[in-house]
Amino acid sequence: MRKLASVQAVNAVEPIPGADAIEKARVLGWWVVVKKGEYRPGDRVVYCEIDSLLPERPEFEFLRASSFKPAQLDADGATVLPAGFRIKTARLRGQVSQGICFPPSIVPPGVPLEEGADVTEALGILKWEPPLPVGMGGQVKGPFPGFLPKTDETRVQVLEPVLERHRGKVFHLTEKLDGTSFSAFVHRGEFGICSRNLHMDEADESNVLARVARGLRLEERLRESRDRLGFDLAVQAEAIGPGIQKNKYALPAVTLRAFSVLNLDTGRLLDHGDMLDALGRMGLDPVPQLGTLTLDHTVDALVALAEGYSALNPKIQREGVVLRPPSEEYDETLVGRLSFKVINPKFLLKFDE
Ligand code: ATP
Ligand code: MN
Ligand code: MN
Repeated sequence: MRKLASVQAVNAVEPIPGADAIEKARVLGWWVVVKKGEYRPGDRVVYCEIDSLLPERPEFEFLRASSFKPAQLDADGATVLPAGFRIKTARLRGQVSQGICFPPSIVPPGVPLEEGADVTEALGILKWEPPLPVGMGGQVKGPFPGFLPKTDETRVQVLEPVLERHRGKVFHLTEKLDGTSFSAFVHRGEFGICSRNLHMDEADESNVLARVARGLRLEERLRESRDRLGFDLAVQAEAIGPGIQKNKYALPAVTLRAFSVLNLDTGRLLDHGDMLDALGRMGLDPVPQLGTLTLDHTVDALVALAEGYSALNPKIQREGVVLRPPSEEYDETLVGRLSFKVINPKFLLKFDE
């Protein structure tokens, strides 16, 4: 689970050229704009990451003008997400600011405040999620299957020690596409499709994912691959196109760009080359491949490298890049595999509403 709010030390404080009331503080791998003189290096702070939804409480009221989000309701009027204040990427005096810092006194008494302590719940903070895209309704078959990993990627800003540990290793770089997560599997004879969190009915074509699966004849292609390869498998992809995330890539129809192929018998990812090969045989496109890099980078260097235009539409900033080793690897600080995302701040400033 991502810690949205945690106790952290301020690593550094630096001036912002041309600004006299504000300065920037370094917390984990993030830069946050703060009031001048408010924090010094070594101070403990409560740091809330971007996408924190802070509750409507008096101590957060100063955020109303800039950050208020009304409650999200479902079709029956039930609350999906309550109203609150959403923390997002901002730019002040040319400095990108990600997240917000508070003094530790904001945490109710009795909550442990050691460095790294997760205070998300203690502060009533939730994760802000964009409203569900239209066309994502449809019949649900069940929860996300236990035999599939969820498609999360960790943000590089919390991974400074990981970058250090894997220095010198080769990583594949792919473009992170901004659509919606999709998985399809053949498991013990059954074909199925999933959204990011649910097993959806592949026959209910009021759902855009069911329509794209049929359009690409995914069931047939996955079953053929299953027979050729001799193991159960899953493909995980980003669905992009009209009706999804404002169709930033200006595509004529919804399609898939795959980033993982899994062997469900072993639970392992196919190696990068084998994945591209398997996708090619299925007639599926991978996410844009941006080559390899030998890791020798700071967080800031990777963030700079994430900037750039999309391979799918050179008119728009890409969302970012994802880095993965050629073969599945694990790292003790990551919950899952060694794999992480670096978001392009210019994309967040432009599109993250
Ligand atoms: P956070 O929890 O940090 O807000 P999130 O859970 O909303 O992140 P994303 O920011 O969308 O998730 O990042 C992970 C998602 O990125 C995956 O679920 C996958 O659907 C999508 N994705 C898009 N392009 C790629 C790619 N090239 N490689 C891996 N995943 C990708
Ligand atoms: Mn996200
Ligand atoms: Mn996404």
